Amino acid sequence: MFKLKNYINGELVEPTNGQYIDNYEPATGKVYSLIPRSDATDVANAVEAAKLAYPGWKSMRTEKRSAIITRLSNLINDNLDRLAEAESRDNGKPEWLAKAVDIPRARDNFGFFATAITHFASESHRTGDGLINFTTRTPIGVAGCVSPWNLPLYLFSWKVAPALAAGNTVVAKPSEVTPMTAYLLSELCIEAGFPKGVFNIVHGLGGEAGNAIVEHPDVPIISFTGGTSTGAHIARTAAPMFKKLSLELGGKNPNIIFDDCDFDKALATTLNSSFANQGQICLCGSRIYIQRGIYDRFRDAFVQKVSEMKVGNPKDDQNKMGAIVSEPHYNKILEYIQIAKEEGGTVLTGGEAVKLDGDLADGWYIRPTIIEGLDEQCRTNQEEIFGPVVTIQPFDTEEEALELANSTGYGLASTIWTQDVSKAHRVADTIKAGIVWVNCWLVRDLRTPFGGMKNSGVGREGGWEALKFFTEAKNICIKY
Ligand code: NAD
Repeated sequence: MFKLKNYINGELVEPTNGQYIDNYEPATGKVYSLIPRSDATDVANAVEAAKLAYPGWKSMRTEKRSAIITRLSNLINDNLDRLAEAESRDNGKPEWLAKAVDIPRARDNFGFFATAITHFASESHRTGDGLINFTTRTPIGVAGCVSPWNLPLYLFSWKVAPALAAGNTVVAKPSEVTPMTAYLLSELCIEAGFPKGVFNIVHGLGGEAGNAIVEHPDVPIISFTGGTSTGAHIARTAAPMFKKLSLELGGKNPNIIFDDCDFDKALATTLNSSFANQGQICLCGSRIYIQRGIYDRFRDAFVQKVSEMKVGNPKDDQNKMGAIVSEPHYNKILEYIQIAKEEGGTVLTGGEAVKLDGDLADGWYIRPTIIEGLDEQCRTNQEEIFGPVVTIQPFDTEEEALELANSTGYGLASTIWTQDVSKAHRVADTIKAGIVWVNCWLVRDLRTPFGGMKNSGVGREGGWEALKFFTEAKNICIKY
């Protein structure tokens, strides 16, 4: 069975304890490779290598650093199909989706920050005659980066790219559920010519390798994307050590669809924003509020389209949805569908597992599910399910829509559908979410701030926000 390796000090190495975890293929439910079960010793080795590499990487001319990261971006492009096939096999997502979104975006994350750092500037203030203030922004040291399974290489690269571009060295841990493309990336890093120790990838469990990164006294900055309860745990460890912390956490995103929307566009995009990547995108809308005037028409058309969506083999381009990422997650989603029924919800379509034949008979597939008839305070509407399950509910007024949209503890993303520009502005201004899309969804510009409010996190990624996070500002005041 193929064994993944850690990437430490420029080399691919086995975990020091010799232990491995099973890695499953969601489409078949079978183990297909083994992941290092690294512990604090491996993390300490990686941190040591990153510390030694830091002075050289920090002082390297920006253009040279940028060129190495650009080479990695180009290598991802050269290996796009191979990486996409690996991502699909490891995660269960359709191969066409990994080819169209995940891997191109990982390539672009490195390309974007390799370029951005060459344009990154800091401020200078003329305070008066003979008095000048200027700010320097210098890298911080060894950055710890921990990422989730839903968009594996996409989100991994979204944090390591700015960390490296800003001049930090990195110890990163991908999710143990989907480690394969981060492993393949480590092979490409060797080809790209990263100096040894600059970028280290340690595989393993969150509570072991992940925790060891967060706890390590020589890792002063942590960038984490994952669940809200894990984020709270990390904050409890990192805050008393006064580490710089970025937390991108869970969501329970509302879609508000007004009577005056472009009906066909709203319908087509809502299909996507509900079920893309099996509903396992932190930006997917899971609470759909529809104004009463079009409620019945929208519901019927939505149910019809969703019931026609094909779920199955991730390798088949005809399938809109592939497999759920893991057996525990598959069971969790099915349990939530049961909870929704017990809370009085009516399943309008889906609500069940899909059983396929042959090699795929033990894979984890769930039909896209729409539930009606629940109030906003029930568990189904308050807790993150993170799967192909949405609820729909009518509303009458703009005020009511806002109240419903803001009724959860989360505040990551939101979508508004209306052709009234004043209404769009009013609602966008009042909604408690870090990201608002009006008449579109998942349109990403890498320069924009990305992150959530409330229980969806602390801090922002993207563009200058990320480069500011991964640097320390120092103001120098000179009287002359
Ligand atoms: P998770 O919190 O279980 O794990 C995320 C990562 O943290 C994994 O690499 C895991 O190994 C690691 N980890 C777990 N426990 C740890 C600990 N004690 N110390 C250090 N590291 C630890 O999340 P998941 O199930 O992989 O991902 C799904 C969640 O991620 C959902 O809640 C989703 O909304 C969220 N998410 C958020 C965003 C965003 O940008 N806000 C993006 C994608 C996913």
